[in-house]
Amino acid sequence: MQVYQASGNLDSRSWPALVGFGLGGALSVGLLAGIITQFIDLVIVFPLAMGMGVGIAIKQGARLGHCRNLAAVTVVAFAMGLLCYGVKLYVNYRGSRSSVMELIKADIHKRIAEEKKSDASFKEPSPADVDRIADEVYREVLVQKTGSSGFMGWFKMLLQSGISLSHGGGSSGGLNLGWVGSLILLLVEAILVGFMAYSAGLDQMKQPYCEKCYRWADLAWRGVTNLKTLGGVAETVTKLTPASEPPAGLLAALPPADESGEHGRVELRLCEGCKEGFLSGFALTPRADGKGLDSAAVFENLVCPPQLILTMRRPAGAAETGGESGRPPAGPTPRLNLPSMSAGRPPVPGPARPAGTPPSRPGNPPAK
Ligand SMILES: [Zn+2]
Repeated sequence: MQVYQASGNLDSRSWPALVGFGLGGALSVGLLAGIITQFIDLVIVFPLAMGMGVGIAIKQGARLGHCRNLAAVTVVAFAMGLLCYGVKLYVNYRGSRSSVMELIKADIHKRIAEEKKSDASFKEPSPADVDRIADEVYREVLVQKTGSSGFMGWFKMLLQSGISLSHGGGSSGGLNLGWVGSLILLLVEAILVGFMAYSAGLDQMKQPYCEKCYRWADLAWRGVTNLKTLGGVAETVTKLTPASEPPAGLLAALPPADESGEHGRVELRLCEGCKEGFLSGFALTPRADGKGLDSAAVFENLVCPPQLILTMRRPAGAAETGGESGRPPAGPTPRLNLPSMSAGRPPVPGPARPAGTPPSRPGNPPAK
């Protein structure tokens, strides 16, 4: 029995899908973020959200492109994260430029009006001329202050004036990070976008892929049990050989979770082609602050043979032959019939009692 490991394989679809989806995600998220951040910008929080957006695209590209190569995903994810942040900054630059241009043009129009007042023969410049003059003024100011024009000039200006951190999103007051601090903040944010995109790609690389059938093995079943059983499942599955018969109902009849709130989640991913399964188990323990659960992988993607999958629904202790209800009828080829994902927590074993019936207590005979 072994654990799934990505083969590192790529095929002809992988690069176009990865780069195509990555570019689409980076450009659209960067554009959107650039527009939004002209009104409100949250340090670190926005880059996290941007990275998640790019990550969705990277993950989808890796999946649709049948990419099983972590290095390829890593390179594309970081490149697209940086590109996305660059697009955001460029949109910020264009926004800032157009508002500064409006101010310059308003000033030019004021001067024209003054000029006309003092000199009746003054020839008013055309709107195109005003645009050209404003453009030159903007360029001159940037070059004078930073030595560069265009985006680079604006970027240097941004660093020179420094990024201010303030509560409540106000633009005045707050701590100014200065030249170095601002540059570090921008770098950290850009890398953060790349890292979030990479994390999403890494998540896809952890999904098992069947190299025999050229398809991803998707989540087919999920069950909840206690932590002790979780370890037992891993031990049993690890000892299985391709020829051995797994215990009947190993997965179907998992004991319920403890009252303590600690529990284990078992997940089965399945190749729909060859019915090979990949079993993972996660320990879920309540956090100290009582909010939510901490999840830790106990075992991940243990390769399990089709016979384990076939015995999944057989209740524990059921005879190998015989026609109990709830079992698929015996046939030449038993049809794989997995419980749906929504099955969730297995039913608590015990005698069935109709809902609404009070439990019988000693000295309290049931009413007639
Ligand atoms: Zn397969």
